[in-house]
Amino acid sequence: MTQPLSIFWFKRDLRLDDNVGFFEALKGDHPVLPIFIFDSEILDKLPEDDARITFIYDTLQDMRSTLQDERDSSIAMYHGTPLEVFKNLADTYDIHSVYTNHDYEPYAKERDAEIQSFLEDNAIKFKTFKDQVIFEKDDVVKKDGDPYLVYTPYMKVWKENFKNHDLKIYYTNEYLDNVVKNSRLPNLRLSDIGFKSSNQKIAEYTVTPTLIQEYEDTRNYPAQDSTSRLGPHLRFGTVSVRKMVKKAIAEKNEIFWQELIWREFFMQILYHFPKTPNKAFKAKYDRIQWRNNEAEFKKWCDGQTGYPLVDAGMRQLNQTGFMHNRVRMLVGSFLCKHLLIDWRWGEAYFAEKLHDYEMSSNVGNWQWVAGSGVDASPYFRIFNPTTQIDKFDKNRKFIKKYVPEFDTDDYVEKMVDHKEARERCLKVYKEAVS
Ligand code: FAD
Repeated sequence: MTQPLSIFWFKRDLRLDDNVGFFEALKGDHPVLPIFIFDSEILDKLPEDDARITFIYDTLQDMRSTLQDERDSSIAMYHGTPLEVFKNLADTYDIHSVYTNHDYEPYAKERDAEIQSFLEDNAIKFKTFKDQVIFEKDDVVKKDGDPYLVYTPYMKVWKENFKNHDLKIYYTNEYLDNVVKNSRLPNLRLSDIGFKSSNQKIAEYTVTPTLIQEYEDTRNYPAQDSTSRLGPHLRFGTVSVRKMVKKAIAEKNEIFWQELIWREFFMQILYHFPKTPNKAFKAKYDRIQWRNNEAEFKKWCDGQTGYPLVDAGMRQLNQTGFMHNRVRMLVGSFLCKHLLIDWRWGEAYFAEKLHDYEMSSNVGNWQWVAGSGVDASPYFRIFNPTTQIDKFDKNRKFIKKYVPEFDTDDYVEKMVDHKEARERCLKVYKEAVS
């Protein structure tokens, strides 16, 4: 093909509408070739029935069908390393510009820098846009330019800045005819990339006015299952964060809105502190003498600790790919504090299992639980896994669902005594951090 074109590179922004980079590409002077790359660097580490890959794959097939039916176009699908794919594309097409959206994870930053340098060496422009957050990088920082390390002042400045922010929705419909007219662009089967369809399905999200209005009253009770389930949709971009913030504001619910701000808080932390997936934010917490007992870790993973709310949470995660936030905090605290197992083990297990796994939120929250992170829970705050039941699952409804044998002789013995484990934890933490 000799006619110059632009490429839009879909990554974690899997939607045709209100997608900033895609919108800007379509408004440009050249026809737009939409592409998606199944990145072998990422895929090689995942199990072959990973539900997230099935979800990404099915979403892309739906997007391809929409473009085929409505615009006689499609999305070109590739498998390999992004650099290999871009080298081939540069050999095949006369590319004027490549458009894509920002991504803040350490690997993504490196990958995008490598692609940028390859494209610029070949006189191709690389244009990138903010899409997955309202405020990114240095948008919300202290007066001296340093990032906020505490959530509340960050959230206040976030809201202040938002007052002057144009919350634009990027409607693509009127520009969608600028896509390359070719409905037979390369496709892939799931098996071509080494995967098979998962039995687990990513849940639909719910952001009805009622859910948002009642969020504060219901969000803490796992049996009610009344949170939005937006996680995977924000992660893979099947919803736009701008539309979700608009909804939160329309329903005047500050708490729900603030959850979305927590997400951005942790994203800017990961952006500014890319070592935090591996290192404690507060360095002295890396001196903790973790016990790291593998047999105990397995019991925790399998939901066989003898503490019913912990076990219900872990079994919910294993069976469904989701765990309620309240229970995430409890199982995380139990792992780090009762069992003295390194938070990185728990983080990695969640990363493998959670449909809504997001590096910034997972690392941020695990470090919060372990006491080692920014704005973290103090180390001597140790959830009591039994009294938590009376607070958050009084009728044992959630427990009965996932641990039906919990009050019978078939249920496992408690793997540690709460009081002893608590004292052991305080001693070990104190030795490390004081
Ligand atoms: P809702 O309660 O409906 O909240 C709406 C959205 O706000 C969420 O989808 C999420 O994007 C954001 N949000 C809510 N709470 C938080 C929070 N504490 N931190 C950051 N963002 C938040 N969230 C993830 O998205 N990915 C993770 O990998 C992840 N790992 C976690 C690990 C631990 C140990 C803990 C304690 C929490 C973790 N969270 C993570 C935060 C929170 O548990 C989930 O965002 C929430 O349970 C997802 O359910 P929901 O979409 O129904 O959330």
